[in-house]
Amino acid sequence: MTEEKNAPKEHSVLPRFAVLQLSGCAGCEVSLLNAHEWVEKFELTYMPLVSSAYDVPEVDILLISGGVRTDEDVYHLQSAVKKAQRVVAVGTCALSGGVANLGNRDEVRQLFLMEQHRRHVPRLLPKSRPVDDFVPIDLYLPGCPPTPELFMGALLDPQGYQASLTVCQECGRKKLKDMKPDHLLGFQKGAVDSEICLINQGYLCVGTSTRGGCRAPCTRAGHPCVGCRGPSNVLIEKGSQAWLDTIQRVFHSMTNVPEKELHDELLSPQLALFLFQFSDYDGGDRPPRPKEKVL
Ligand code: SF4
Ligand code: SF4
Repeated sequence: MTEEKNAPKEHSVLPRFAVLQLSGCAGCEVSLLNAHEWVEKFELTYMPLVSSAYDVPEVDILLISGGVRTDEDVYHLQSAVKKAQRVVAVGTCALSGGVANLGNRDEVRQLFLMEQHRRHVPRLLPKSRPVDDFVPIDLYLPGCPPTPELFMGALLDPQGYQASLTVCQECGRKKLKDMKPDHLLGFQKGAVDSEICLINQGYLCVGTSTRGGCRAPCTRAGHPCVGCRGPSNVLIEKGSQAWLDTIQRVFHSMTNVPEKELHDELLSPQLALFLFQFSDYDGGDRPPRPKEKVL
């Protein structure tokens, strides 16, 4: 054995971070893995998707993905935050519902409760809850999932990261005053003009009031924004109803779409995953999230 190999290993001086995965789909973790710049700048100590460490160790930063859906989620959440200097809630499930919240639907819940052989799985809470119903959060990173760039902003320089106010500002499509559709076209149907605002073309895009920072990957590709980044700064402290009212006002001024048609489309599954779960999560005693804490 060489002298070099016998030398004691130096302790890492890199900041340490862990990823606690609660009830979600692991999409946030995949996006984080695509943000590979952190590999040189941080030591990843725990992330069940890729590392087999037994438990969350002491860390500088704890990222929490997933919603609080089971009693096991509550236990892991409350013990992990005690070991972290800074706690960041990432993704729609941790903040406002997402796929984990689909279990609040009666038919899904009944399916679980009726099946005897499924009773060994962690006990479902009466409702899925956001992580800040249980523990204090230092920073919120919304998105489904947040983009790799947003993950790097949260890890490296949350105060210095400059996101545009809304998705519209990042989209680059032109809004036309004299192009008002009479009806909505549904999601991702028909040929999409690559320059013109999707609302002018009859698509239910909610980018006007959704917070920016994602660089508008959906609308640039011709798909309406479904609001996964949540309400923009001017709306976040006013609550979800203000978000929905603003979306409706935009459609009244930019289209001739009848009110009922718009209302029904706002309840569609694509939008319900984000808009209406946000409304649901607004209902408790939790105060609105301060915009300074949202990346
Ligand atoms: S409403 Fe949608 S398509 Fe139109 S400019 Fe805004 S983000 Fe782009
Ligand atoms: S464009 Fe809208 S739906 Fe797409 S990533 Fe951005 S906020 Fe989410």
